[in-house]
Amino acid sequence: MAFSSLGLGANLLKALGEVGYAEPTPIQAAAIPPILAGRDLIGIAQTGTGKTAAFVLPILARLAGMTGGGNARGNGSGTRALVIAPTRELVAQIEENVRAYAKHLPLKMAVVFGGVGERPQKEALDAGVDLIVATPGRLLDLMKQGYGDFRNLKFLVLDEADRMLDMGFLPDIRRIVKALPKPRQTLLFSATLSREIESLTHEFLTSPEKVEIGRRSNPAETVAQSVYEVPKHLKPALLLHLLRDEAHALEMVLVFSRTKHGADRIARNLERQGIKTATLHSNRSQNQRLRALGDFKSGAVRVLVATDIAARGIDVDGISHVVNYDFPMHLEDYIHRIGRTGRAQQEGDAISFLTSEDHGALRALERFIGRAIPRKRAEGFDYTAAAPPPPPEAARGPRSHHAPRSNGHSGPRSSRPSSNGNRGGRRRSSQGQGGGQSGNPSRTAR
Ligand code: AMP
Repeated sequence: MAFSSLGLGANLLKALGEVGYAEPTPIQAAAIPPILAGRDLIGIAQTGTGKTAAFVLPILARLAGMTGGGNARGNGSGTRALVIAPTRELVAQIEENVRAYAKHLPLKMAVVFGGVGERPQKEALDAGVDLIVATPGRLLDLMKQGYGDFRNLKFLVLDEADRMLDMGFLPDIRRIVKALPKPRQTLLFSATLSREIESLTHEFLTSPEKVEIGRRSNPAETVAQSVYEVPKHLKPALLLHLLRDEAHALEMVLVFSRTKHGADRIARNLERQGIKTATLHSNRSQNQRLRALGDFKSGAVRVLVATDIAARGIDVDGISHVVNYDFPMHLEDYIHRIGRTGRAQQEGDAISFLTSEDHGALRALERFIGRAIPRKRAEGFDYTAAAPPPPPEAARGPRSHHAPRSNGHSGPRSSRPSSNGNRGGRRRSSQGQGGGQSGNPSRTAR
């Protein structure tokens, strides 16, 4: 199938040629025609499948077509498309997509998210925009203050709806949707179709078409996974050893820490050893996070250390290795983490450090993915080294974040696997995407 057969219009096809997309991904091929036809739609798909373009392209096509000759301007006609997504990272990614695809369309857009000043966003809304991409909290704040003109809204997208529910955004979303016109086209995307999501679709959508697509590739099947057993105190040394070992070729490495403070410690340690490292977690400002991602993407830093929530939805190509420095607390997190590598059908490696506390979690994980993960030992690494003396900083500040999990770390959450397992040959992943609550300090990263 070719994009040209989907009826998107010459300006969009030109932009797609420029970004180098040869053909639609399965979710795009399935979702674009019904969206163009005006149907409400439930898309069960994850980041990495091309789902953003699956809703952005037909919306842009319809926005461009609506005002004759694609001459839509935000001059008084109000906002016609609203995309709501759980995190600012995701909002920034959707924005990036929209800007690329709408390059040859005279459409105005604005992004709205927390953690940065309100003023520029208010000014953008006042100037009038065709399309807004927003996180729920900040959008609701601005709407309450009278910003935004949604009287002519035609399209509403709820992206990563499952994650927005997990993050407690439902009340905000309800309030926002209540303020929107009823005759509109609503699209809901979610990684999973839980009962909650089903009821949400009944609440917000009308006779929706359902499109369900597995991952472009299921990371549990395509990513090369391995487990390195290591005494807890040797984790920093093992990470360093692997990074220095040319045989492992750890080129572009995403390291997962369970806590923000842990992430900072790992990064400091690597920096001290001359390895360029950035961190991504909710204690970092929006600008710091964007810079960290930018430096990682550009190769200015080799290692990005992230917490689970902050890393959700990040879309970085070329990550050669994911290192689970701390074994993930939840099964969804594992699948999500390793899905950061090997994207777009590239090969990737996922390395998990395993301490004596993590065996139960590993067993549960192996049961879920239906295979054993190979155990490996790092060549030339001294597994018998004694614990180093604590660094001077250990005397300062709280260290409880790093405490071992005594809170029933019983491995992956058991609630979701059964409803999300592979069925009927169609791959469905177990986890949502998106996370990373940023606008609400009460729901910061782990
Ligand atoms: P998404 O699932 O929207 O996060 O997209 C994942 C990645 O796939 C992004 O880097 C997109 O730029 C890329 N992508 C989306 N559609 C296509 C396509 N038709 N061909 C190639 N790459 C695509």
